[in-house]
Amino acid sequence: MSNATDLFGKDISALKNKKLFLFDMDGTIYSDDNLYHGAKELFDMLNSDQYFFITNNSSKSVKEYVVKLKNLGIDSTVNNFFTSAQASIMYIHDNYPQNKVFCVGTKALIEELAENDVQLCEENPDVVLVGFDTELTYEKLSKACNYIMGGAEFLATNIDLVCPTSFGFVPDCGSICQTIENSTKKKPYYIGKPNRIMVDEIVKKSNFTYSDVVVVGDRLYTDIATGVNASVTTVCVLTGEATIDEISNSEIKPTFTLENVGELYKLLAEIKV
Ligand SMILES: [Mg+2]
Repeated sequence: MSNATDLFGKDISALKNKKLFLFDMDGTIYSDDNLYHGAKELFDMLNSDQYFFITNNSSKSVKEYVVKLKNLGIDSTVNNFFTSAQASIMYIHDNYPQNKVFCVGTKALIEELAENDVQLCEENPDVVLVGFDTELTYEKLSKACNYIMGGAEFLATNIDLVCPTSFGFVPDCGSICQTIENSTKKKPYYIGKPNRIMVDEIVKKSNFTYSDVVVVGDRLYTDIATGVNASVTTVCVLTGEATIDEISNSEIKPTFTLENVGELYKLLAEIKV
């Protein structure tokens, strides 16, 4: 059998030895409510301890993602997810264990923080955590500026400036943070992708090592950069944002480039039979 290659003609057989797959969601396995070709077959084939969904979107809780995937035909559990919200919770517990947090985020994010023993408050916080707040108000922005200028730590779930929608883009966490930066002259510490924390925390709780890991995504400066920062193998798919030209011209290069996750399924299915 001749070896399969990626879109740049690179031999992809090394992927057959990989055991832990970290997938971006939007643009990688689906767009809105349309699952990409081969995605269902791929997740049916992988064991449930072999994959995680890593997402920067902190507007939805993990429970909501499980329901969304279920509706698309993929049976996952909360254990298959690692979101920028979960990474933020770990980061806060590790670095600010006794501190009170004011959150600029959705009800879903605030609930998730509370369920995971983050001490939330409305006044005099030690930490301000900003998420992708689709329920943003001027009052929240104003309070965040007040607390950050008063010395509170400024953390953010994710660096993304915009989030894709059916009509184009809406402002994401990074844009909300820039608004706060303009007033406070302070920059946040961004926790989600491309921060390698996303890979480190997953490897820590899995039975696998870094050499087993592949990060699969459609965006160079978040998904692929996460893998590069953690020194693990990466696969860029062309179903979302990245194009062949962009990859050719970018400093951030994936290890392999495939048309879609269906190609990954085809390759891995060869070794299962
Ligand atoms: Mg994506």
